[in-house]
Amino acid sequence: MVDATWGTGPADDGNARGAGGAPRDVLGPVDDGRAFDDHHPPRADLIADCVHCGFCLPACPTYVLWGAEADSPRGRIYLMNEGVNGEPLSGSMVEHFDKCLGCMSCVTACPSGVRYDRLIEDTRAQVERRFTRDRGDALLRRAIFALFPYPRRLRLLRGPLRAYQKSGLQRLVARSGLLERLGPTLTTLESLAPRLHKVPRPPRRVPARGARRAVVGMLTGCVQGAFFPEVNSATVRILAAEGCEVVIPPGQGCCGALSVHNGRREEALGFARRLIDTFEHTGMDYFVVNAAGCGSSLKEYGELLADDPVYKVRAAAFAAKVRDLAELLDALGPVAQRHPLPLTVAYHDACHLGHAQGIRAQPRALLRGIPELRLREIADPELCCGSAGIWNILNPVPAAELGDRKAADVLATGADLLVTANPGCMMQVTAALNRQGATMAMAHTAQVLDASIRNLGAAALRS
Ligand code: SF4
Ligand code: SF4
Repeated sequence: MVDATWGTGPADDGNARGAGGAPRDVLGPVDDGRAFDDHHPPRADLIADCVHCGFCLPACPTYVLWGAEADSPRGRIYLMNEGVNGEPLSGSMVEHFDKCLGCMSCVTACPSGVRYDRLIEDTRAQVERRFTRDRGDALLRRAIFALFPYPRRLRLLRGPLRAYQKSGLQRLVARSGLLERLGPTLTTLESLAPRLHKVPRPPRRVPARGARRAVVGMLTGCVQGAFFPEVNSATVRILAAEGCEVVIPPGQGCCGALSVHNGRREEALGFARRLIDTFEHTGMDYFVVNAAGCGSSLKEYGELLADDPVYKVRAAAFAAKVRDLAELLDALGPVAQRHPLPLTVAYHDACHLGHAQGIRAQPRALLRGIPELRLREIADPELCCGSAGIWNILNPVPAAELGDRKAADVLATGADLLVTANPGCMMQVTAALNRQGATMAMAHTAQVLDASIRNLGAAALRS
């Protein structure tokens, strides 16, 4: 039954068409006529928490872009409710769920505490199990998940990518307009590739400098480890300088964040179990993460593995030790001397740090602790930059729109340097700045702190 107070009927906005204008239901039928099966469907009690007030609407990037009720948090919860009440999983429904960035801006905005994060995660797992995607979409997703959660495979890309960037081929391809002719997905992938630097791999164990304050296990990550190894190196140096012994087992693999955020729960469970096995006996007091998307998933390992009798308790114990880098450093308090960095810095809240983990004050406090550094705020900080894991690859056109908005807001701060704590945001905003013909130096919070502690000067971050 449709509740009129929920706005326009979600399925009627003309947004639910597949290739050639055919309804996507035709391309992706479901087996038994029910949207959801009984294995963790979106919970009816959590759906019922939504009082339809609409406070979340202006905070939702897809609602801001398209103004359609079905592409708002409230509209998506409405669709989940339809599914729970026995409606079939239509292509239209799936399209609206797919368009959600998973940015959790609505969770921050909601005065009723609706657990949209849990709802969309359960919904996505159902969609991945029960919905047959059209061939192009399925192939693209398969390719993404055959590559991104595997650090070794990503590292194999470094050589060819560096050759492409350094040989002048990249400039030639850009001038030829070839990528635009091949489609927005390839254009997006190419524009996201960061400039790669050679950095030695961190050792397995790095001693604390001075008196040891904690033993810290460290996630090297997939994209972070392969494309931003300099961020990991900076992280290790700061932790050691702040009195942490850092443990970095090799071959630690993916944490499963990308998989769990995209409904691939079984795959995520495998990654999570392996990571727990790898770190469980290292004697760590904390498990530190410098990528926002990974940190938010790791903190939920207890819920993710709640059905697993072997890992349930271990997963909860592991999750209790997880800290974002800024969260840990702020809690420990500084012991290493900070040297001046005369820079104006704009700090961008990665969604999975700000909205999903509520970590906003700590990175700002750390940056403000650096002498001569001036901090500027970016307008509309709650709105996602459009990166959202692999959302920008699956939805290149709206992602570019969101990226361009964010880049304009960043430029308006007049800052010398953009600082954020997520590799996806760094790539997305850099690509948007490049499209606008603008340049701005970019750094992870770890790199700024590292430059200050090592007294490298502002030039080290501007280059
Ligand atoms: S997670 Fe983000 S994109 Fe999805 S409904 Fe909430 S605010 Fe909108
Ligand atoms: S703000 Fe919360 S309660 Fe209000 S419509 Fe959005 S999700 Fe529902």
